[in-house]
Amino acid sequence: MTQPDVGRIDGLTYPTGTAYMAGQYLPMSEARISVLDWGLLHSDVTYDTVHVWNGKFFRLDLHIARFRRSLERLRLSVKYSDDELRHILVECVRRAGLRNAYVEMLCTRGLSPTFSRDPRDAANQFVAFAVPYGSVANARQLKEGLHLHLIDTVRRIPPESVDPQVKNYHWLDLVTAQFQGFDAGAETVVIKDMNGNVAEGPGFNIFAVRHGALYTPEHGVLHGITRRTVFDIAEQFGIAVHSGNVSEDQLRHADEIFITSTAGGIMPVTRLNGVSVGNGAPGDLTQTIFRTYWEWHDDPAWTLTVDYDEAKHAQ
Ligand SMILES: *Cc1c(COP(=O)(O)O)cnc(C)c1O
Repeated sequence: MTQPDVGRIDGLTYPTGTAYMAGQYLPMSEARISVLDWGLLHSDVTYDTVHVWNGKFFRLDLHIARFRRSLERLRLSVKYSDDELRHILVECVRRAGLRNAYVEMLCTRGLSPTFSRDPRDAANQFVAFAVPYGSVANARQLKEGLHLHLIDTVRRIPPESVDPQVKNYHWLDLVTAQFQGFDAGAETVVIKDMNGNVAEGPGFNIFAVRHGALYTPEHGVLHGITRRTVFDIAEQFGIAVHSGNVSEDQLRHADEIFITSTAGGIMPVTRLNGVSVGNGAPGDLTQTIFRTYWEWHDDPAWTLTVDYDEAKHAQ
């Protein structure tokens, strides 16, 4: 993978890109929020992430719809219509000139002018940005598979506490587990729910393949749009999908394992807690789903093409 371009300001290094906030498009390095924003102080914020591949957004409408549901559940408000949101996101990518981009929309509770502790006093703040595409897995890991560690000691925040369908930055469980995984020599981790079933990893869902069928957790995890795309691909190929509880045993006896995220797509896992998965190489089914996933990125039915032509947009 090529190193993303970086910009520098005040001695800090930023990925290049374009952000939109408070009605303005800005270079990424100038997009800042106050330290008093509830998004930072209380992780009172939701977001969604979509990607652009070869100049095309993938399933943008699903991401916008999920963002809307998250906003509603947290009683956050964004004044833009879906069309306006789409325009802002496209415009961030167009101005950044990125063919492959990681695009995020987020809304924080914002800041209350009096620093009151009542969330209703805060003015919600919408931010969008496009930066160079980033993946959970690097090029070698995509080819050879990731070394994953199933962590037992840190459990996913239960859905009764924080609704996992609201995409959120409550990541201390995931990040704590990540450090434990690194200590164990792994490249990434997956954690369990409070009942001991397999849940998800830092920003990705997980699938196990056994005897040609797919198994993926249903409860206590974010229903990723990549996960959903895997369901759609499986349907097309006549592959059975079981969405329900996935036990540690099922994962350990899987023929194949892969993880899914907007940041990386379909990513094979070839080692689990130091032990080879299947024959130790990305499995056939994983590779079929991987190929189809990226083929669908050229299908107009699933994509929105960014028009990078400057002249057309100049007013
Ligand atoms: C974003 C995310 C995923 C993956 O969702 P996609 O829509 O496929 O990108 C999975 N789990 C968590 C916790 C996430 O934040």
